[in-house]
Amino acid sequence: MKILVTGGAGFIGSALVRHIVANRPDDEVLNLDKLTYAGTLTSLRAVEHSPRHRFVRGDITDRALVGALLAEFRPDRIVHLAAESHVDRSIEGPAAFIETNVVGTFTLLDAALAYWRGLGPEARAGFRFHHVSTDEVFGSLGAEGYFTEDTPYAPRSPYSASKAASDHLVMAWHHTHGLPVVLTNCSNNYGPYQFPEKLIPLMVIKGLAGEPLPVYGKGDNVRDWLFVDDHVRALCAVFDRGRVGETYNVGGNAERTNLEVVNTICALLDELRPRPDGQPHARQISFVTDRPGHDHRYAIDAGKIRRELGWAPLETFESGMAATIRWYLGNEAWWRDILAGRYDGGRLGLTGAV
Ligand code: NAD
Repeated sequence: MKILVTGGAGFIGSALVRHIVANRPDDEVLNLDKLTYAGTLTSLRAVEHSPRHRFVRGDITDRALVGALLAEFRPDRIVHLAAESHVDRSIEGPAAFIETNVVGTFTLLDAALAYWRGLGPEARAGFRFHHVSTDEVFGSLGAEGYFTEDTPYAPRSPYSASKAASDHLVMAWHHTHGLPVVLTNCSNNYGPYQFPEKLIPLMVIKGLAGEPLPVYGKGDNVRDWLFVDDHVRALCAVFDRGRVGETYNVGGNAERTNLEVVNTICALLDELRPRPDGQPHARQISFVTDRPGHDHRYAIDAGKIRRELGWAPLETFESGMAATIRWYLGNEAWWRDILAGRYDGGRLGLTGAV
């Protein structure tokens, strides 16, 4: 199978590309990524010499480029992960979110439709456009309940609103034009190669440096955490076997408050890299001004993908977190390189806070 992956130099995209090259010997990947601040080729070292992976630096909003790549590569799958993905940045600078997440998805759909219409009957029937989205499109839950595939959309941040818009465009191209799409809405991911602005790597890096660990508000916001390789296995199940025109929710069944997540990291650091003074890392926790409009709770009902496609996460929160923290401890060069060039660990997204 030929698979065009967008955003394959980012956190989840690079995990997908590494997985395909390592585990699917008959598949070939064309990886289209703009290499924004969030994308890095150092996440692709494991596949850089593979003849089954080709990287193209380019923008998904570039219609001519996307059309030319489709004509030349002739994919069986487009797996679309390229996006601006950080809520805090969407508060400070929403324009890039509209441009990439909305206009970029439109551009891909436009090019994909033209390409798909030109295929022979068998290739047309087998083709899939897989749009990778987030549970944040469903809004915020109270203490009870779960997001299902039928939960109405109620995005509340510029990021989630731009992702919701892209989901609607994808479904519109299916219903109006017949483009064979599948869509996944996944909960919070964590794991190796995640950009250090996100909660878990940020806490590890600040924990090691002996710096304050900034927890937003009271730390009681709840997220459902999924190890990134489990998400990748879910993506493969859906683009291999998912029903056309369907959405699948993906989650880890691992709800934790942010404070619980940070305490887990602190306990692992205490064990694996104790502070020089022997004190617990948790003493570095510092409660800071909350994110404006911070969604309280997300929780996924992943029953549909489990029933229809037999997918379930392989990692528990505990095993996945231990693997993740060990990876950050063993791969300092990867994140130090990013901290040196692109991100200083500072607070983002307070604009608009009252
Ligand atoms: P990321 O920010 O780590 O990576 C995004 C990648 O997209 C980067 O490599 C970046 O260079 C590339 N990109 C950005 N704009 C581009 C453009 N205009 N053209 C081409 N490439 C561009 O994001 P991630 O965490 O890996 O998320 C990947 C996808 O999964 C996103 O669509 C996101 O909405 C979705 N998602 C993420 C999570 C999560 O917890 N991280 C959860 C559910 C869904």
